[in-house]
Amino acid sequence: MEKRPKALILGAGIMGLCTAWALLRQGFAVHLLDQAVPPNPAGASVDHHRLIRHAYGAQRGYMRMVDEAYAAWDRLWDDLGEVLHIPTGVLALDDTAGDWVRQTRAALREDGRAHEDLTAAEIEARFPYLSGAGINDAFFCPAGGVLLAERIVAGLARHVQAQGAVIELARATALDPARATVTLEGGATRSADVLVVAAGPWIPRLLPEVARRVTPSRQVVVRLEAPSAVWTTAPMLLDLAAEGGFYLVPPVAGTPIKIGDHSFSRQGHPDDDRTPDPREVERILALARKRIPGIEGFTRLGSATCFYDVEPDERFVIEPLSPRAWVMSGFSGHGFKFGAVLGERLALAIAKPETAATLPAWAAGDEVIPA
Ligand SMILES: Cc1cc2nc3c(=O)[nH]c(=O)nc-3n(C[C@H](O)[C@H](O)[C@H](O)COP(=O)(O)OP(=O)(O)OC[C@H]3O[C@@H](n4cnc5c(N)ncnc54)[C@H](O)[C@@H]3O)c2cc1C
Repeated sequence: MEKRPKALILGAGIMGLCTAWALLRQGFAVHLLDQAVPPNPAGASVDHHRLIRHAYGAQRGYMRMVDEAYAAWDRLWDDLGEVLHIPTGVLALDDTAGDWVRQTRAALREDGRAHEDLTAAEIEARFPYLSGAGINDAFFCPAGGVLLAERIVAGLARHVQAQGAVIELARATALDPARATVTLEGGATRSADVLVVAAGPWIPRLLPEVARRVTPSRQVVVRLEAPSAVWTTAPMLLDLAAEGGFYLVPPVAGTPIKIGDHSFSRQGHPDDDRTPDPREVERILALARKRIPGIEGFTRLGSATCFYDVEPDERFVIEPLSPRAWVMSGFSGHGFKFGAVLGERLALAIAKPETAATLPAWAAGDEVIPA
């Protein structure tokens, strides 16, 4: 009987698990390593929700990749036996003289994607819980929604194990990409035909060549409960403001409202103390106060510190480290939505190396046609 090729994947967050899912379908035997049982709450993938939206400023490559992302999620929902996406639409607001909303609208229009321009008065009439103060430019886009991230990671971990993948609990201390080998705490090693390094914001300490381009970034999010049920039908909110701006995830499927800011701290390491400083929480709430006049009446459910792995231009890094190893990194604050399609594309590149050449540029958001 023909022996199956063996893949070793470091990291069982969304990227490692989606790659495992897709490699299994390509006929690989898959061995995952993670320092914690997935879903690891310290991982970048694990929270109630992550947003998926076509609104991407002038980055048409990522805007168009969202269509492929949705198709890949559909294939995953079929395998998991449940749909873990809630449509909400996207409300984008800009009270700066900046270009992001204008550029996004131009890109949406170019592709004929449905969207509706709104004035500040129209926003207040349609979403009475929001203030239109200072809005210069805005649109609503009916496509887009919330991915139930923690449930997806948990479901994927169960699914890949049911398909024969092994998830070993162990901490990696060193990598040898040329030999597709990982050294574990205590000195044991694990090897395979191919290695995928998908260790999220921990990667820069493991791979100095990635550390030159990708920085862990401590980000604080605040969880709230609104006194009124109107918020359960609210769209996701992307609020661009001169002082920074914030995003809001509406309370879908029993999850809390979440708000976070658009700026990167580029500070800290995921193994540091994660306790949010009350000043960090206050700074996030201050960003939302002008837009949500009723926010003082919301119940504060808590706050959390998470880590992005930030590439300066927010371009994903899916690149070969050697003929036998790949790295998946630099997913910044926007990678989750692409987890399923990126896993599929990397698995294809590994199974059929003749398709691999265009993968790094496509993953980085360039408008190349993948093989
Ligand atoms: C607050 C926040 C909000 C975000 N919002 C969005 C959004 O709305 N939409 C969107 O598309 N994206 C969003 N993102 C980005 C997205 O969630 C991340 O880019 C994505 O989850 C990264 O996945 P990953 O698998 O690369 O990393 P991780 O989920 O961090 O997985 C890495 C895994 O590797 C393991 N690991 C690391 N080092 C070792 C080691 N040495 N040994 C063993 N195991 C190890 C970890 O335990 C972890 O489980 C957000 C991210 C954050 C933090």
